[in-house]
Amino acid sequence: MNTTAATTTDWNALDNASFRATVREFFEKHFPGEWRYPQRRLRWSEIGPWYLKLSEKGWVAPSWPTQYGGMGLSPEKLIIFIEEQERWGVARAPDMGITMVGPLLINHGNEAQRAYYLPKIIAGEHIWCQGYSEPNSGSDLASLRTEAVVDGDDFIVNGQKTWTTLAQDATHIFLLVRTDKSAKKQEGISFLLADMTTPGITVRPIRNIAGSEDFCEVFLENVRVPRTSIVGELNKGWTIAKALLGFERIFLGSPKQSQYALARVREAGQRLGLFEDTGFVDRYTKLALDVADLGALYGRFIEQVKRGETLGPDVSMLKLFATETYSRLADLLVDVMGSSGGTPGSTALPGGKTDALTTFYNARPATIYGGSNEVQRNILAASVLKLPS
Ligand SMILES: Cc1cc2nc3c(=O)[nH]c(=O)nc-3n(C[C@H](O)[C@H](O)[C@H](O)COP(=O)(O)OP(=O)(O)OC[C@H]3O[C@@H](n4cnc5c(N)ncnc54)[C@H](O)[C@@H]3O)c2cc1C
Repeated sequence: MNTTAATTTDWNALDNASFRATVREFFEKHFPGEWRYPQRRLRWSEIGPWYLKLSEKGWVAPSWPTQYGGMGLSPEKLIIFIEEQERWGVARAPDMGITMVGPLLINHGNEAQRAYYLPKIIAGEHIWCQGYSEPNSGSDLASLRTEAVVDGDDFIVNGQKTWTTLAQDATHIFLLVRTDKSAKKQEGISFLLADMTTPGITVRPIRNIAGSEDFCEVFLENVRVPRTSIVGELNKGWTIAKALLGFERIFLGSPKQSQYALARVREAGQRLGLFEDTGFVDRYTKLALDVADLGALYGRFIEQVKRGETLGPDVSMLKLFATETYSRLADLLVDVMGSSGGTPGSTALPGGKTDALTTFYNARPATIYGGSNEVQRNILAASVLKLPS
């Protein structure tokens, strides 16, 4: 299969410095300044044009093989690409199609699915959302109850998904559904692809405490999904869902958020004259050292990825350390802002403005998504420390 968007450049043949300079120049020149370092998930109406620009350039799917319209980057080059995105504060466009559905179809889909879906993801015609979590199944995802029953050439799907990020902007959803209620819970699950315009799908946005509608509830009532939309074999969806947790798990542990938060704390501290206050300096210094340690830990896992090694359960330690450091920094920022620490929006200080609450609101969810921190601790206890359960 051939898609049109990819350039024929062999990016991996470039030396790392030239590749980094090329990517950096493009981001600096073309990424819309108003969306740098966004403090919330951007909607398709805001960031869609950037997705389309990347698509036009052949850069929208950096990790996909070139034959499917990707850049075909090696792990080492992909890391540089992501580092440059983070450095310039390039916002995430709705990328579930790129990061999840594409790799899923490339590895577990059939030729017809690849031929139909992949070019549409590259072109930005199909925007995907992830239908895994349910009101009573999050950490224990295998207990999910949304059910799909075979009826002629279709499945009929009934149930509810929740916390579905940006479902209101998605054209398609990938679903984990129960297809065998009598089997052991992990063994009766299948993986389905569905068009969001199918009758019976209702999307209801959830307004979060920050006032934005980043995720939704998705209700599925007698939704007919063609049997050809199953990925992999019937009842084998759990294995596929787990296989999606590739080395990209490492990016949940990126130190960038903490580095930016530390810079915000430093600025606020300077504006408020707090570097004369030993209490503040003590907390700030400890956190600055944690951020440095986090960078080193991240570097260790990055080296592992670059060597082509599979990440083990110990990467949970990185997610924990990254998100908890970020949360502690957010707490400090709220504290130093005093009474305005809990006020939405920016507060004017001598020399500039500081918005503490938004940092706080961004830090908290990071301890939940991608596997909550308590669950990461369980993984470390069982699989790394081998503690008795
Ligand atoms: C910003 C954001 C975006 C999200 N986007 C999506 C999305 O697009 N699609 C999607 O499907 N889901 C999404 N989620 C949902 C996310 O995957 C779940 O919130 C997560 O898996 C936790 O599940 P839960 O909310 O049901 O909490 P629960 O699993 O009910 O957990 C509640 C609390 O109990 C703790 N806990 C649970 N089990 C254990 C245990 N065994 N041991 C110790 N403690 C435990 C948890 O750590 C947590 O503190 C998103 C979540 C967030 C915050």
